[in-house]
Amino acid sequence: MAGIHWIVYLFAGILVAGYSKIGPGNDEPFFNIFFYIGIAFIFWGFVKLIFSPSKKREKVLNYQQDKASAGRNLVCPRCNAKNFNYSKFCHMCGFKLR
Ligand SMILES: [Zn+2]
Repeated sequence: MAGIHWIVYLFAGILVAGYSKIGPGNDEPFFNIFFYIGIAFIFWGFVKLIFSPSKKREKVLNYQQDKASAGRNLVCPRCNAKNFNYSKFCHMCGFKLR
């Protein structure tokens, strides 16, 4: 999934919220807006973290799919089902493959 990574939101939120509290002029009510913006960024970062599947997880899924279809190159001449290279009979129709 393209877009800004959740950790960017998290860091930006912490930075903005933190700066609004420790930065100069932090006793002005105006800076409270920045604090809430920072909190919103942190919140959005967590939302992204929870709801977007991580690249790592996608990679694992792809790997598992590759593994599942790996070696299935023997196409049945009768029903076109993919069978394992070492299969003697088609797993779909029972056609003798070798
Ligand atoms: Zn078959």
